[in-house]
Amino acid sequence: MYPAAFEYHAPSSVKEALGLLGKHKDDAKLLAGGHSLIPMMKLRLAQPKHLIDLRKVPGLSGIKQDGNVLAIGAMTTHWEVESSSVVKSKLAVLSEVASVIGDPAVRNRGTVGGSLAHADPAADYPAAMIALGAEMVCEGAKGRRTVKVDDWFKGLMATAVGEDEILVEVRVPVLAASSGAAYMKFPHPASRFAVVGVAAAVTLDGKGACSKASIGITGAGTKAVRAKGVEAGCTGKKLDAAAIEAAAQKAAEGVDVQADLQGSVEYKSHLCRVFAKRAITEAVKRAGG
Ligand SMILES: Cc1cc2nc3c(=O)[nH]c(=O)nc-3n(C[C@H](O)[C@H](O)[C@H](O)COP(=O)(O)OP(=O)(O)OC[C@H]3O[C@@H](n4cnc5c(N)ncnc54)[C@H](O)[C@@H]3O)c2cc1C
Repeated sequence: MYPAAFEYHAPSSVKEALGLLGKHKDDAKLLAGGHSLIPMMKLRLAQPKHLIDLRKVPGLSGIKQDGNVLAIGAMTTHWEVESSSVVKSKLAVLSEVASVIGDPAVRNRGTVGGSLAHADPAADYPAAMIALGAEMVCEGAKGRRTVKVDDWFKGLMATAVGEDEILVEVRVPVLAASSGAAYMKFPHPASRFAVVGVAAAVTLDGKGACSKASIGITGAGTKAVRAKGVEAGCTGKKLDAAAIEAAAQKAAEGVDVQADLQGSVEYKSHLCRVFAKRAITEAVKRAGG
């Protein structure tokens, strides 16, 4: 359980970190909270020759409101998201998502950026970021670019961040008026990773019908996905119990559900439907429906 030998770097600016990334290329890995990378290094699933620690880089953590968006620095820990008064008052669902990640040790060290860059198929933030319509800001030698969440998750632990880029900020819109959001997951009893987790955000019109539904699912497949069938099933409907049940039945459609140690394809598909129903029901309640 010892990692392979590596050289440790502690840059003091994004520019310096990018310089190291550019110099060492494939041989380098960024280190954030270390709660995914260090276990992988100990198991020798990752063997970077150069470890570039982002923890001494100023300006990468913290949460601020920027108009109708919460701008969250990539190095902001799960605990900081969970306990932030701005997040609690402006986008409480995100605080709730952070609060169900792992255990206190994981939440005190793990970071938003690390989670979204690592893209574990059972991580919690990805479903929430899909439902909330987040954007990821990446910085490289040529400057910054913004990636919409629907273009972010590329496959198993693969994202749109380039090998020569750093994810520096996550921008999450606050909910529109008459909207509600909720995240419900079936946690693995040991790690608390999501066997299946569903995030739902709904907006109701003046007559109480759903004018917009945004649903993200994690845990079921190789990457978090948008549940388009559920979204279509909700939109335009008055979301009473029967309508929610009908929409939630489509939760596993379009999801590349994978059997694993936690369950069969049938079981995990069932969990998608059950947790979609629970998340939408709570989101509608919070929207005032
Ligand atoms: C026991 C245990 C239980 C856990 N339970 C859960 C859970 O219930 N739910 C959940 O969602 N997660 C869970 N996790 C994972 C945890 O949330 C990690 O913190 C997270 O996945 C990775 O964040 P990190 O900051 O630790 O990243 P690191 O481990 O430091 O890095 C992970 C990967 O992302 C890359 N990276 C990191 N930051 C950046 C950046 N800014 N730009 C580009 N690339 C970057 C690294 O190079 C590395 O490849 C658990 C972890 C453990 C150990």
